[in-house]
Amino acid sequence: MKPANSPARGKAAVFSGAGLPFRLEEYEIPLPGRRELLIEVICSTICGSDVHTWHGRRNEPTPCVLGHEIVGRIAAFGHHAPRMDLNGQTLSEGDRITWTIAASCGECFFCKRGLPQKCEHLFKYGHNAISPGKVFSGGFAEYCILNAGTGILKLPPQLHDAVAAPANCAVATVAAAMRLADQVEDSVMLVMGCGVLGLNAIAMARHRGASHIIACDVSAERRELSETFGADDFVLPHELCDVLSERTHGRGADISIELTGVAVATTGAIAGLRTGGVAVIAGATMPGARFEMDANDIMRRMLNIRGLHNYAPQDLVTAVDFLADTVDRVPFDSLSGGAYALEQIEEAFAASSALPGRRVAVVPCARSLESNSST
Ligand SMILES: [Zn+2]
Ligand SMILES: [Zn+2]
Repeated sequence: MKPANSPARGKAAVFSGAGLPFRLEEYEIPLPGRRELLIEVICSTICGSDVHTWHGRRNEPTPCVLGHEIVGRIAAFGHHAPRMDLNGQTLSEGDRITWTIAASCGECFFCKRGLPQKCEHLFKYGHNAISPGKVFSGGFAEYCILNAGTGILKLPPQLHDAVAAPANCAVATVAAAMRLADQVEDSVMLVMGCGVLGLNAIAMARHRGASHIIACDVSAERRELSETFGADDFVLPHELCDVLSERTHGRGADISIELTGVAVATTGAIAGLRTGGVAVIAGATMPGARFEMDANDIMRRMLNIRGLHNYAPQDLVTAVDFLADTVDRVPFDSLSGGAYALEQIEEAFAASSALPGRRVAVVPCARSLESNSST
């Protein structure tokens, strides 16, 4: 769709703070700047962090347009906008794409040291206060402007919108955790937390050839789902020590991935490692999960403890490849919490809050709602 043919105004659901209703407002649809793209949003899934913000457990600058797990179609290119995606495929108007959760400058101290996700000029979709002319920066709107430095990826047709949308947050974060864990093949892996990220971690570890996967969660209701995603054992926290010991001849896991943000789970992820094992800590999205460690334990057991925040563009490529390769055998659809129109965003957030292990989709155009349910 060319902007000249599109309606001059587009809707956005503006979030003004916890406890306040979203305001559905219309704004002029901007032309993309020189290195920007204009995207028509097809589907955005509500991430756990959006729900935390909605409840006031996280603070974002307001007013803002939330939503960062986004699938859209290219509506227009700025004159110097990228014409190739992260895989080197040509981009054209109408292409169905997703993109990195953040745009990085490529030139600052951290970008030059392999940490684009910690860019000094990082722009994160769905996390910015809106201002005149800068409204379309999140997923819960009809349009989104992609900034320079965003990694774009065309989506393969076998991934329908609601399965593809979490790729650019939940699944890419899991892909980054696997990259930090390094030797996933033939490993015994411990996954702490069986929410959307944990289930994706289980499935990705299985796909990468992990020899044994132990999933741990406080909710026994997640046993069946974790097994359908590929876990060999599901344990409640009090069972973890015994099962881990039994499965590893008392040595512990090669890798643990911590996705809960709870101090006791982080302690368990580190205590459960074998000598020389790797723990990736990716769940502590809010401050306060304090725990004690003995430096002697880190030293003698030669532990590798790695923090993960955001991810690098290559992780999004890994995430989408993983979804495309496994969508026929992994029940990603079972994580769906339904689809809502933009006008129903309050209901969508209430549903997401009530279904913490699911991804609720917001589809800004009614047309998208129809195609989303039919694909
Ligand atoms: Zn997210
Ligand atoms: Zn940078």
